Amino acid sequence: MSFLQLKGVEKYFGELRAIKGVNLSIEKGEFIVFVGPSGCGKSTLLRMIAGLTEIDAGSLQLDGRDITKLPSSKRDLAMVFQSYALYPHMSVFDNMSFALRLANVDKAVIQEKVTRAAQILNLTNYLQRTPKELSGGQRQRVAIGRAIVRAPKVFLFDEPLSNLDAALRGQTRVEIAQLHRELGATTIYVTHDQVEAMTLADRVVVLRDGQIEQVGSPLELYDRPANQFVAQFIGTPQMNVLPASQLPQLAGTPQLPVPAGGFVGLRPEDVQLQPAGQGQLQGTVALVEALGAETLIHVALGAGTANGAKLIARQSARTTLHPGSAVGLSIDPMAAHVFDDQGRLARP
Ligand code: ATP
Repeated sequence: MSFLQLKGVEKYFGELRAIKGVNLSIEKGEFIVFVGPSGCGKSTLLRMIAGLTEIDAGSLQLDGRDITKLPSSKRDLAMVFQSYALYPHMSVFDNMSFALRLANVDKAVIQEKVTRAAQILNLTNYLQRTPKELSGGQRQRVAIGRAIVRAPKVFLFDEPLSNLDAALRGQTRVEIAQLHRELGATTIYVTHDQVEAMTLADRVVVLRDGQIEQVGSPLELYDRPANQFVAQFIGTPQMNVLPASQLPQLAGTPQLPVPAGGFVGLRPEDVQLQPAGQGQLQGTVALVEALGAETLIHVALGAGTANGAKLIARQSARTTLHPGSAVGLSIDPMAAHVFDDQGRLARP
C-alpha cells in the first residue's frame, strides 16, 4: 500500500462539488505538486489532507492508518502557508520551537533541532530576531523551519512562494528543492506556477474543476499530455493547438492522420522557420519576442492573415526577421500531438 492514499475523496461547499472523487497514491519521500487554474480545488484538496477541511466522502490513509476523521493536530503533518502565519511577537527561535515546546519536548532536544534546522535554512544569525525584522524570504524560511523541527510524516505547502518577488521566488524554489534532497521528506506542494511544478516535482498532479486530469513526471506531462487541457497548461509559451481544418497541408495527410473535428498540437520548439516558399506551411511574421537566450516568433498562417490561424515558433538563435516578413514553416509530423474533437489524445 502507498504511504498516502486518497480514495474517492469528495468535497461539497453547499451545492458546489468542489472535489469530485479524487483517487491518488503517494509514495514515501515523493515530492508531489498540485497544479491547475484558479478555483480548480488545489487548496481544498491540500486542506483536506491537512485536516483543515472536512472530507465529505471517501477516505484518506497515511502510513497504513485511516486518518479521514482524525483532527489536524493528530495527523502528523506540517503545513506551510503562503502567509507564513508566524507569531509576530516571538523570536525566530521561539517560532520555530513552538510546537516542540507545546509537546513538552526536552529543552536540549529542542535546542539541537532548532539549531540544525536554522543551519539548513541559513537562519542561524537571525534566531533572536522577530518576524518583522526579517525579509519575506527569511520569514518563509522560518515557516519552513517550524515545519522541519517537527519531523512530520508529510510536509504540505500551500503556494509558499507567491508573496515573494520573482528573484527571491526563484532562489527560494531552489532552496526548497535542496531541502527535499537533503531531508527526503514526503511533500505535497500547491502552486499555480507551472515552472515551480516542473522544477520541484517528482510527479505533478494536474487538477481541473475538482478532478485529476493527469498525474505524471514533469517530462511525461510535457512530452505526453493526455489531453488538450494538460497540453496547454504545461509549457511556456503554450503548446500551439489548432483545429486540423486550419492545417490542411499537414493534418489529415498520411503522415498525420487526424480524426474528424480533431486538433493538432505543436510545441513552439517543434515549429521550424524556413525561408518563404519552403516547408509545409507558409505565413507572415506577426511579432518577434527576443528574450535573449531564445526568440519567440509569432507567425500568422496563410497568405497574409487569411485563415486567422497563428503559431508560435521558438528558436535559440537570434533572428533578423521582423513583423511582415514572409516565412515558411516545417514541422516533423512525429512531433505533433493529435487530439480528438473532445480534446482527448487521439494518437499516443
Ligand atoms: P486558487 O489557485 O485560486 O487558490 P484553488 O485551486 O486552490 O484556487 P480552491 O481554493 O481549492 O481552489 O477552491 C475550489 C473551489 O471551491 C472554488 O470554486 C472555490 O470558490 C470553492 N471554495 C473554496 N473554499 C470554499 C469555502 N470555504 N466555501 C465555499 N466555497 C469554497
